[in-house]
Amino acid sequence: MPLTVVGSIAYDSVRTPFGERERMLGGAAVHFALAARFFDEVRVVGPVGADFGEDDLEVMRARGVDVSDVERIAGGRTFFWRGEYGWDLNTRETLDTQLGVFERFDPKLSERSRASDVLFLANIQPSLQQRVRAQLPDARFVALDSMNLWIEIAREELVRAIRGADCLILNDAELRQLTGMPNLLSAAREVLAWGPSGQTPRGPRVIVAKQGEYGSALVTRDRFFALPAYPLENVIDPTGAGDTFAGGLVGYIAANTPVGGAPRAQASGAERPEQVADTNAVQLDDELLRTAMAYATVLASFNVEEFGTERVCRLTREEIDARLRELASMTSFSSAAETAPAGSASPAA
Ligand code: AMP
Repeated sequence: MPLTVVGSIAYDSVRTPFGERERMLGGAAVHFALAARFFDEVRVVGPVGADFGEDDLEVMRARGVDVSDVERIAGGRTFFWRGEYGWDLNTRETLDTQLGVFERFDPKLSERSRASDVLFLANIQPSLQQRVRAQLPDARFVALDSMNLWIEIAREELVRAIRGADCLILNDAELRQLTGMPNLLSAAREVLAWGPSGQTPRGPRVIVAKQGEYGSALVTRDRFFALPAYPLENVIDPTGAGDTFAGGLVGYIAANTPVGGAPRAQASGAERPEQVADTNAVQLDDELLRTAMAYATVLASFNVEEFGTERVCRLTREEIDARLRELASMTSFSSAAETAPAGSASPAA
């Protein structure tokens, strides 16, 4: 199913202990699209300024991303972000954020973008996320990402935006900040209880907590799943890892959900799908979500190997699938509890 993404299209200046780049192509929607395009047709919505290079648009276009809803604002400045990482690449300092053309952006999506069944509201002002959501009232699966800045300055709007989404993807620290709950599981459960907003029939039903180099966790009303990050010795720049992760997750879900609403056939032993009353909604069975988490993990691992979009731009589907197989073998184990006779696990006296 084609998917539409709205979010920052940016120039990023980044410094890590391993080097720096000035005004490289970045932005949440860009990182997302360059990952999701491995799975499905992606349409990007958002404004750029007069300073945005045609060659940067071509980076996406050449990889099959539909950029016809990227609006160039005459005389405007492209979103700009400057950040710095220390030796702990899990934490970063934002040194500058300039919204530029996003400050007054009024999204008017084309017929094509509005026809998408899947919508990703990438990190940007929550009011803008809501306005885009309102233009796709029949979307079958809506995921949303955000960050500490919006929790701090626009929390109420963000909560409304989250209530219009099926899936919230957030850093674990931000999930705690958003809910005021110190425990990840209780924080996720809190969001799952928020319910639908006035204009939308469903509320959040999947929470994905990103945990940087430690991996990610997925919480639904009755299930929990977690994966470690793919282990890497050389991490150069984590910028965009979260959006690339989201691109793998949402792209895989979009590509593997049948058009027409019927739930996927269940593999034997698979858990029951995350059912919702709304028949238009995508039915999310456990197997689909777990594989989507694995692809997300793999895509994110490539992103951090080089600066900005550099590595993902050169990536191939073969490389992705090879790493997915490695991740599968690294994370599989047999449950001793199933094979060992009862009581044999107790330590010898
Ligand atoms: P990530 O590392 O996945 O959190 O994403 C980093 C990307 O988010 C960078 O490419 C930035 O351009 C973009 N970004 C940073 N701050 C913001 C913000 N306040 N709103 C939207 N996008 C942002």
